[in-house]
Amino acid sequence: RTQGIPEVCVVTGAASGIGRACVEQLAFEARTVLAVDVVPMGQGSRPPGPNVHECIADLLDPASPGVIVAAAKAIGCPSILVHCAGITRHNDIEKLTNSDWEDVFRVNLFSAAGLIRAYVPEASGARNPSITLIGSVHAKASSGGAAAYAASKGALAAMTRSLAVELGGRGIRVNSVHPGAIDTPFLRSSARIARPNDVEGQVRDWAEAQPLGRLGTADDVAKVVRFLVSSEASFMTGAEVVVDGGLLAT
Ligand code: NAD
Repeated sequence: RTQGIPEVCVVTGAASGIGRACVEQLAFEARTVLAVDVVPMGQGSRPPGPNVHECIADLLDPASPGVIVAAAKAIGCPSILVHCAGITRHNDIEKLTNSDWEDVFRVNLFSAAGLIRAYVPEASGARNPSITLIGSVHAKASSGGAAAYAASKGALAAMTRSLAVELGGRGIRVNSVHPGAIDTPFLRSSARIARPNDVEGQVRDWAEAQPLGRLGTADDVAKVVRFLVSSEASFMTGAEVVVDGGLLAT
């Protein structure tokens, strides 16, 4: 049913970091991309190509899944969903408030579930449909101080496994990608909290602590996502792919 209609890749969290790199990697392959974020991609940097369409939406808005799927259908057939949008509230357990827990779960997990619910009926007829959820090494190991974030990412990994089984019969592959320390605004704001007076020193220390001696780049993750959504990965579903420069091996 999709012959002649462009297959659309929906990327959330598209204005920054890993999401933005995913948009660029997919656009580089001349794919049609719907770049979703609560803030515009722009501000100084050019949109990464004519095949990239922006959709400003707050994933916390219950109407956003309908808005996003309608925007994808307006430019083609929704086929690939990459959920990168994510937030953290790093704090000791005594200081994590109920609203911290709610914020983290609403953006990292519930918004993905809502979007998937709207996306699945549209994607079933696409050529190589897939869902890729960006988790974290915190889903698998922890250095502490991130209970809400780690729990949300662990739940995302569990959701990936369940959905892979449930949606396999409809040809929809579902995988999660678990980055380690990736140099993005997200990591830099964590560094600012960890060491407010020496952010660069904190970033340098984290880089030196990695087995590869450096932080990952957003492209390191986005290239793996690009592979996972491609037909090269057509027998991969339910996989949890770690992109962490060896961190979990330590
Ligand atoms: P980032 O902060 O650079 O980008 C996240 C984007 O999500 C931002 O553009 C933000 O506007 C968007 N976003 C947040 N809330 C939203 C909402 N309600 N609606 C729409 N968009 C919203 O972060 P990043 O480092 O690129 O992280 C991307 C993903 O990777 C996140 O899920 C994060 O948990 C995960 N991750 C990052 C790292 C890292 O070290 N950077 C490590 C492991 C996992």
